[in-house]
Amino acid sequence: VKRAKVSGRAEFYQVQDFAIARAQFGMETALRRAIEHRDLRLAYQPICDLATGRIVSFEALARWTDKDGHEHSPTEFIAVAEESGLIVPLGRWAIEEAAQTLARWDATNGGPCGVRLAVNLSAIQLQRDAIAPVLQAALDSTGLSGDRFTLELTESAIVSDPDRIAGTMHALKALGTNLAMDDFGTGYSNLAYLQKLPIDILKIDRSFVTGMLADRDKVSIVRAILSLAQALGMRTTAEGVETHELSQTLAALGCTYGQGYFYARPLEPDAAYAMINSITAMN
Ligand code: C2E
Ligand code: MG
Ligand code: MG
Ligand code: MG
Repeated sequence: VKRAKVSGRAEFYQVQDFAIARAQFGMETALRRAIEHRDLRLAYQPICDLATGRIVSFEALARWTDKDGHEHSPTEFIAVAEESGLIVPLGRWAIEEAAQTLARWDATNGGPCGVRLAVNLSAIQLQRDAIAPVLQAALDSTGLSGDRFTLELTESAIVSDPDRIAGTMHALKALGTNLAMDDFGTGYSNLAYLQKLPIDILKIDRSFVTGMLADRDKVSIVRAILSLAQALGMRTTAEGVETHELSQTLAALGCTYGQGYFYARPLEPDAAYAMINSITAMN
């Protein structure tokens, strides 16, 4: 009787797994079509210099709205893209699209518009694609210089294949880009890599920032990351800055940049461009 129960339960899980697999396959098919038909967009969220309140860059974040108006969560569809290999065409599209947007902003401005764009690279994309030539092609087709871009990598990318990633990072640095370590503090990276690899910016994960004013442990973690970055000659960006008070505190602690809903949510390109010369925080 016991055995029958156990196997019954196992079957139940298999049915569940199958349903999940089928839902995921459905999303994969729809995502493949969305990439082919260029139905994805990028939203742009400002990153501000905490000392001056000026916008120094925007992070480009993928967005996907269905024909029926349903907005997919990036965390979900990026995960599906990674599992299916679609992250390679999606990642190439993101670099090309970001470059075209920045070139358009420069053209509207009648010269370089003064901001960089930050593009996310996933660990799987870095394993499967050669990113430097993709960026080089985008630079060639737009006439932009590489120093207009920051590439955001996660700790998992470094852990997965340190030698390959080091090569890619050096190739990207040779194009003049900034490299940022995204979601810092949530991964498992060996601190020795931080010193060895050409990382310019540590992005302090939102989980340590949002709510830190009411949590002394979070403040301690943020301080530790700031002093580590300073010792290694890196700049810092705090993610998840949702209030004026947080932006002031982070500035006082010596954090270089802030990003979060306090300044702006991720925006459509025209709205982002309109923000460029504004001061986002007054003290
Ligand atoms: P991320 O790279 O860490 O991007 C920051 C995320 O935090 C974004 O979520 C942004 O909307 C959100 N955020 C910004 N400020 C605040 C705030 O003040 N409060 C809160 N609660 N959230 C804030 P989003 O757009 O949903 O993207 C989620 C993740 O999906 C990104 O995390 C990134 O890992 C991934 N992603 C998005 N676009 C791309 C892409 O083009 N390529 C790759 N490989 N990954 C992407
Ligand atoms: Mg990012
Ligand atoms: Mg992040
Ligand atoms: Mg994050």
